[in-house]
Amino acid sequence: MNERLYKTQAVVLRRFDFGEAGKQLVVYTPGLGKLSIIAQGVKRATSKLAGHLEPLSLSYIVAARGRNLDTVTQADTVEAFANARTDPHRVFYALLVAELLDKLTLDQEENRALWDLLVSTLRRIDTEDDPWTPATYFQVRLLVLSGYKPQLDECVECGGKLDPSAVFYSPRVGGTLCPGCRMADVQSFGVSANAVKLLRLAVAPAYGPYSRVRVGSPLRAEVEGILRASLGNITDREVGSAALLDIMKRAPAQRSQS
Ligand SMILES: [Zn+2]
Repeated sequence: MNERLYKTQAVVLRRFDFGEAGKQLVVYTPGLGKLSIIAQGVKRATSKLAGHLEPLSLSYIVAARGRNLDTVTQADTVEAFANARTDPHRVFYALLVAELLDKLTLDQEENRALWDLLVSTLRRIDTEDDPWTPATYFQVRLLVLSGYKPQLDECVECGGKLDPSAVFYSPRVGGTLCPGCRMADVQSFGVSANAVKLLRLAVAPAYGPYSRVRVGSPLRAEVEGILRASLGNITDREVGSAALLDIMKRAPAQRSQS
């Protein structure tokens, strides 16, 4: 193979127009992390690449290194995740997964565990009855694998034991606080013992125990609120992204429509 060429699996996180008939793609890969890459001519009907570089699908690509951006020369769909991309109840969650991964990662930082999480999450959103479960598990694991593991076993500030009837969550420190320590943390808010239990399950690398819990609407809303606050706090600080919060705020409206 030509030295300038390399091959990799890739999930297209998002894409936008590039030049007259091309697209710039932001993809996530197992060995190269997140990459921006050009696909020339994909908007033409004759393009061999078109149809193999759809957002949220897993493709096998060959790319040529460029001075600035690399260019896709071949693409083949490996898994299309058709339900996740077309079912209105699922596509919101699949897009949320792609956008959060994009916001919390830097270019060209390999994270094989994050790659595995991305692909297994898209597969679960595509096939499982309830896409909420894999989508929320993804968000907790994304925090863990990005170095922001939620601390839920004691008070993060004083190390004190938690009384399940009076637990608070602080997005600032990314974990639980006791009633005494929460006084100094204006962002913190009260959380139920069940929400803390559910998040503890999602922190673990095994999906099974988390996925088997039946979660009712009030607890769903509470867990979503905790995740939104945590992820929003990180992206505000690290990336300054107001767009992310907008995406996450759309969640409840989307759910009530479906
Ligand atoms: Zn404390």
